[in-house]
Amino acid sequence: MTVEFICVGTEILMGNIVNTNAAFMAERCAGLGLDCFYQTVVGDNVERLKETAEASLRRSDVVIFSGGLGPTEDDLTKETVCKLMGKKLTEDEKAWKHIKKFFEKRGLELTDNNRKQALVPEGGIVLYNKNGTAPGIIIEGENAKAILLPGPPGELIPMWNEYVEEYLRKLNPAVLVSEMVKICGAGESKVETVLKDLIDTQTNPTIATYAKIGEVDVRVTAKGEDEKECRKLLKPVVKEIKKRFGARIFTTDENVSLEMAVMQILNENKMTVTTAESITGGMVASRLINVPGASDIIKLGLVTYSNKAKRKYLGVKRSTLDKYGAVSEQCAKEMAKGGISAAKSDVCVAITGIAGPSGDGSTDRIGLTYIAVNVMGKVKVKEYHFDGNRAKIRESASTAALTLLRHCLLENLTEKTFSTG
Ligand code: ATP
Repeated sequence: MTVEFICVGTEILMGNIVNTNAAFMAERCAGLGLDCFYQTVVGDNVERLKETAEASLRRSDVVIFSGGLGPTEDDLTKETVCKLMGKKLTEDEKAWKHIKKFFEKRGLELTDNNRKQALVPEGGIVLYNKNGTAPGIIIEGENAKAILLPGPPGELIPMWNEYVEEYLRKLNPAVLVSEMVKICGAGESKVETVLKDLIDTQTNPTIATYAKIGEVDVRVTAKGEDEKECRKLLKPVVKEIKKRFGARIFTTDENVSLEMAVMQILNENKMTVTTAESITGGMVASRLINVPGASDIIKLGLVTYSNKAKRKYLGVKRSTLDKYGAVSEQCAKEMAKGGISAAKSDVCVAITGIAGPSGDGSTDRIGLTYIAVNVMGKVKVKEYHFDGNRAKIRESASTAALTLLRHCLLENLTEKTFSTG
């Protein structure tokens, strides 16, 4: 079953408000297994709305409108759609009573315009609005169904939850189940290349990749009659993806983050960790501390931004800083060693890099970062070249640090090995 959305309002077209209704409705419809191929925004203009609605009602099974149900002259959705679908408007007694009560309760004066909101098409299903005045309406046409909802999200969302979701579910009883395979240490193009044959031939389940900074999530979605059927369809595809990415997959649980996966390994092995951060300024510690149970695992989080601090708190040698500089493999290694000594932890992750922009305008070293992980005396260090602005470089560095930390833990604690790419 196909569904599409028409969001009405010149202020959306002008960029004055963000079209959150479309995002909300699209996500909900995807969850219901409905196919959505079009979303349109149209201004408060009868001709253009008519033209858009006509095309949508011709090509989709359900067209959902948001906005333009208010009492003013430019609120034209109901009149335009009803005219198009050949439905006469009549006053709905219950809706009118509700509007009067709404105004009385707030001590507001009713105008003739408000009566317009109580008009509903003959044979239409009225969705009473508990959070505003304009009722929603479902019009069941010969070819397509139109669902008219008020624009304010505070009205649209409760109305959706109370009536629309159930109505759509009944029209399309299919179930949609998805699994999220989360991959670290590989870019989106690499993931897509590795999965190209699966993506090119996908039908059911479908495979979609979502790139995040330093992480790629692959959503595999199956449509079936019930959950059991969907799980059966998902199983071989998820198994194949797991086979191709191995230990780079840190979870298949949508709710698990990279830091949660790292903390789980530390927790299972009763290990403590110290962070020694320069470029990331505490971001890695903060991400780890976001995970419940951190107090048993995080021993110390150091932000050693200056050379002086690197020497004082981590014991980085002056000669190392003089010879190689603070952003060097040697410095990162000494930071990772010093972190363990400073806190007597089992593990230390150290990050040093250049986030830019540089004072002299040079760009060649911006993004250069060294990350070192020390697991019980065994130190691994890696060089990275991140791109983007200061915020993106720092975010990339913090994710890379968690990825390398996880990699080193797996390498040292289990037999699993994988390339960090
Ligand atoms: P009202 O009875 O309040 O006039 P309405 O159905 O006529 O409701 P609009 O006048 O189109 O709705 O929009 C009212 C307000 O709702 C907008 O000013 C905006 O704040 C919000 N809104 C409208 N459409 C959207 C949308 N697509 N996404 C997010 N917010 C929206």
